[in-house]
Amino acid sequence: MKILDRYGRRISYLRLSLTDRCNLRCHYCMPADGVEKLHHNEILSLEELHMVAEEAVLLGIDKIRLTGGEPLLRKGLIPFCERLASLRGLKELVLTTNGTLLPEMAAPLRKAGVKRLNISLDSLKAERFSAITRGGDLWRVLAGIKAAMAAGFPPPKINMVMMAGINDDEVLDFARLTVEHSFTVRFIEYMPTLKEVDWQKRCIPGTELLERIGRAYRLIPLVSTESAGPAKNFKIEGGAGSIGIITPISGHFCDSCNRIRVSSRGMAHGCLFSGGSIDLKPALRSGKDGYLRRSLLEIVSGKPMGHRLREEHDDRSPFAMSGIGG
Ligand code: SAM
Ligand code: SF4
Repeated sequence: MKILDRYGRRISYLRLSLTDRCNLRCHYCMPADGVEKLHHNEILSLEELHMVAEEAVLLGIDKIRLTGGEPLLRKGLIPFCERLASLRGLKELVLTTNGTLLPEMAAPLRKAGVKRLNISLDSLKAERFSAITRGGDLWRVLAGIKAAMAAGFPPPKINMVMMAGINDDEVLDFARLTVEHSFTVRFIEYMPTLKEVDWQKRCIPGTELLERIGRAYRLIPLVSTESAGPAKNFKIEGGAGSIGIITPISGHFCDSCNRIRVSSRGMAHGCLFSGGSIDLKPALRSGKDGYLRRSLLEIVSGKPMGHRLREEHDDRSPFAMSGIGG
């Protein structure tokens, strides 16, 4: 089965957030004191998250990304992944993590059927990494990347949020990683989710990054596959890995957006920045036949054509990305 939204986009990708809690506090994602602790009734149980995934797959979703907060913090994650991986019709179960718990968990995740990992890493300098994440240990993440490779995962995608004056002097260091290693390094434009003062000054357009990398290396454009998602991909000539540029702000990719999101609080979203959300908890807890399916279809049909982040009169309320899952 295939589901199309009202603009003819095929919706095939669900980002499922397992928790809004995290063991890091990245400046751009979370407030310094973290997120409010919720009553367990306000969070979807693993059984409920499974029901959402199962219904979404029946509707035509064939890729699920587990995210958070930090998804590796969710208790019962490994058996949950095993169940999801065996859903008929699901082609890809993948996960985004900050990597800090991978030294212990990479092998069990691989065994449970997770196909690929995206690992977030915004600096290769230990002190700076700690400042950006408010206390994170770079060496745990590097050990996590090694553990993922040792567990047999394909080379991970490394997600780096590029911020002017904070870590943009490391662009070439990150690009160089792809010369020797078969990683994909993806540079992501900083998004103003928390509406920090002067956020525009932090945002570096993807085109500028490409120019900077292109001055140091010969870049070869790669043909985009559907699984590459919204990234524009390149390879440094002779390099083992590849480089992706993700431009949610400067060149938004709404035309080909194929995703919906469900948060750990059970809120379904058709778009990160525009349009409404639907609380799936009543559908999940009513026991009424067809209610969950109708709610998911409503999110698909209400998916807006695009966001308006670049417009001057952007009146969104600030939100922590950790609550939705990026
Ligand atoms: N904790 C996991 C991690 O950090 O990979 C998963 C959740 S995190 C919210 C998912 C992704 O969103 C990360 O790659 C993070 O860098 C990205 N992200 C969070 N806030 C962002 C922002 N304001 N702008 C751009 N990317 C952001
Ligand atoms: Fe945690 Fe990921 Fe947000 Fe950083 S980006 S605070 S690691 S959820």
